[in-house]
Amino acid sequence: MGIPMGEFDLIRRYFTRPTPRAVLGVGDDCALLQPRPGMQLAISSDMLVEGRHFLSTVSPAALGHKALAVNLSDLAACGAQPLAFTLALALPRADAAWLEPFSQGLLALADAHGCELVGGDTTQGPLNICITVFGEVPPGQALLRSGAQAGDDLYVSGTLGDARLALEVFRGTLSLPEAVFAQARARLETPTPRMALGLALRGIATAAADVSDGLLGDLGHILRASGVAAVIDTSIAMQLIAAGADTLCADGRFDVKKILACVLAGGDDYELVFTAPVAARQAVQAAAAQAQTRVTRIGQIEAASGAPAVRLVDAAGAPVLRQFASFDHFA
Ligand code: ADP
Ligand code: MG
Repeated sequence: MGIPMGEFDLIRRYFTRPTPRAVLGVGDDCALLQPRPGMQLAISSDMLVEGRHFLSTVSPAALGHKALAVNLSDLAACGAQPLAFTLALALPRADAAWLEPFSQGLLALADAHGCELVGGDTTQGPLNICITVFGEVPPGQALLRSGAQAGDDLYVSGTLGDARLALEVFRGTLSLPEAVFAQARARLETPTPRMALGLALRGIATAAADVSDGLLGDLGHILRASGVAAVIDTSIAMQLIAAGADTLCADGRFDVKKILACVLAGGDDYELVFTAPVAARQAVQAAAAQAQTRVTRIGQIEAASGAPAVRLVDAAGAPVLRQFASFDHFA
C-alpha cells in the first residue's frame, strides 16, 4: 500500500458491510437494532489483549475468528440467538496485510452465525480487540448460572483440555506428535462456539455457563450462583481430551494428573457446562443430536455441605486428587 490508510478508510474497507437485519450499521453515531417483538436482548463483552489472551505469533485470521468466537460462546451459554456485534480495536498501525486476514476470519464466523457488525471504535495503540455481542432470547428463557438443583445431572459439551495442551507446547513445557499438536492448536486458536446446543438446551438445562477459564472454575460459578455442590467422575472426565488419554500416556511423558489438569482446569475450551434434571436425560440427548454436538454426562449436582464445592471421584465413587486445585502441573 503506497498511501497510508486513514482511520475512516480502514473502517470503510474492512469493517463496513451490508446489515440486512440491523436498522442501521456502521457510519453514524449509533447503530440501531430492532429485536423481534417481545424478545429480550442478551449482551456480552470480551476483550482480547496480546500476551494475555493470545500469542503474538497467532495468525490474524485465527485471531479474528477467536475474538468473535469467545463472545458468541457467551451468547450460547445463555441460549441466545446472535444478532449483531460491535468491534473496538486498538492497532499499532494500519497494516493491510494484517487487517485483510483479520477481518476475513472475523466476518466469516459472523456470517456463519448471522451476526452483523454494526459499529465500533478504532484507535492507534497496542493491539487490543474488544467485541460486544447482542443476541435475543424469549423472556424468561435465557439459561442462567443460578438454576442448578441438587440431584441434577452435570454435563459438558465437546472435548476439554486440548487448547491447554497447545498452549503448553507454545510455552515450551511439553512436546506433542505433529498431528496431535495440529488438532490441539486448532482448538486453541479457532474455537467453535456452541450456538446450536445453547439454543437447543432452552427449557431443558437448569443452569449453564461456557468454559473459558477451565471447567472447575466455570462450574464453580454455577455452583456459587445456585448454592449447590457437584461431584465429577474423573474416569469420564479423562476421556474428554481429544488427543486421547491413552495416546498421551503411551510414551510416559503424561500421567493421569497432568491430563486431568488440562481437562479440569486447562481453559480456553469454549464448551458449555450445564445441568439438567435426571428426568430430562432423553431431552438432553435429543438436543445434542439436533445440535450435532457431543454431550457427556460427567457427574451430578449435590446439596452444598461446606468446602470443597466439587468432589472428584473415580469410577467406583472413591475420592481422588483431593488437593487438585492447588497443584500446578506445569510449574
Ligand atoms: P464516533 O466519533 O461517533 O465515536 P467514529 O468516528 O469512531 O464515531 O466511527 C465512525 C463510525 O464507524 C461509527 O459508526 C462507528 O460505530 C464505526 N466504527 C468505528 N470503528 C469501527 C470498527 N473497528 N468496526 C466497525 N465499525 C467501526
Ligand atoms: Mg469513536
